[in-house]
Amino acid sequence: MSVSVKAMLDQKGRNVFTIGPHTTLGDAAHMLHEKKIGAVIIAGVEGKIAGILSERDIVSAIARHGAECLMQPVASVMTTNVYRCNEEATANDLMEVMSARRFRHVPVEKDGKLVGMISIGDVVKSRIREIEQEAEHIKAYIAG
Ligand code: AMP
Repeated sequence: MSVSVKAMLDQKGRNVFTIGPHTTLGDAAHMLHEKKIGAVIIAGVEGKIAGILSERDIVSAIARHGAECLMQPVASVMTTNVYRCNEEATANDLMEVMSARRFRHVPVEKDGKLVGMISIGDVVKSRIREIEQEAEHIKAYIAG
């Protein structure tokens, strides 16, 4: 049985960093660096998700357009078709979707509102904890 996203958020917290669509790529890069995160949500109206911008989008924009693109708004390069999940999803569900679709961040929604963010690091941590617990149970079973 894989851990639920709700349990993962209870453990790590529900704080999600967001920026507006007019924020420049340069300012977004500063934010990712300062907060030590790999992606940020672009907030739309009424707490809705307008897009996601990851460090990969900034690197791609610089590679394609040069450093001048850092003055451009994030809306020009963010991904708008954002995959999201609800709190009932599990670590295994997210591991599958992240590996199949090749992204490392999934925002969590409840009643259409952003309530958390799960990164690939959170999924890996949670899987390691599960595997350690299973190993403990097996050891206790064998010893007992
Ligand atoms: P990442 O691996 O999360 O750094 O993102 C790689 C690419 O996928 C970037 O273009 C992101 O904008 C995009 N991306 C990241 N997370 C998501 C998501 N949950 N849904 C759709 N695209 C995403």
